[in-house]
Amino acid sequence: MKSVPRILIVEDEAPIAELIAVNLRHNGFQPVWAIDAVTAQRELDEVLPDVILLDWMLPGESGLTLAKRWRSASRTKSVPILMLTARVDEADRVAGLDAGADDYIVKPFSPRELLARIRAVLRRRVPEASGGTVKMGELVLDADTHRVSHGDKPLKVGPTEFKLLHYLMRHPERVHSRGALLDKVWGDHVYIEERTVDVHVKRLRESLGPAGQMIETVRGAGYRFTSTPSV
Ligand code: CA
Repeated sequence: MKSVPRILIVEDEAPIAELIAVNLRHNGFQPVWAIDAVTAQRELDEVLPDVILLDWMLPGESGLTLAKRWRSASRTKSVPILMLTARVDEADRVAGLDAGADDYIVKPFSPRELLARIRAVLRRRVPEASGGTVKMGELVLDADTHRVSHGDKPLKVGPTEFKLLHYLMRHPERVHSRGALLDKVWGDHVYIEERTVDVHVKRLRESLGPAGQMIETVRGAGYRFTSTPSV
């Protein structure tokens, strides 16, 4: 349940980044600024934003290279990317979209235009982000009907396991500590031993059958839900 969309601004020119950040903040967004590719990557590894505003011309790796990489990485592939570009050439625009940008906006742009574009990409993503169904590979979870299936085969999953699976599927490819899972799935007002998580993970794996291997144990760290289990 997030109320304030987080927007990662990847922009090397501080005045532009600042202007964007101020406007975003005033309009109910949470801006995060990364001055270059390295900082942006670090930020993405920590917290996934709702939208990435990506400057084309960056020192070091270009926005185009970054867009391509983030589009092909499982962790970042569904985060909308809006390219910021001073280039107006048709071929460049096409290259940006080909690299995986969802939209582009040509500098100089008005804050109002930028906000409209951000809202548009967020709207487009809404069915996927919050909608009833989450899918990974053959595994499908429908939050509205509380159904889980694997390759069209319905699976029986208990209510706690269902909540756990829903959370893991919405936050794949990263490691969740037992404590973090307790907070997110059980709620942080309840005192439950961390061992409880292991019990429910075990049950969940059993319910999922072959898809159970998508939940990996990360020794000393917790659990990870992955589309590419290392079995
Ligand atoms: Ca720049």
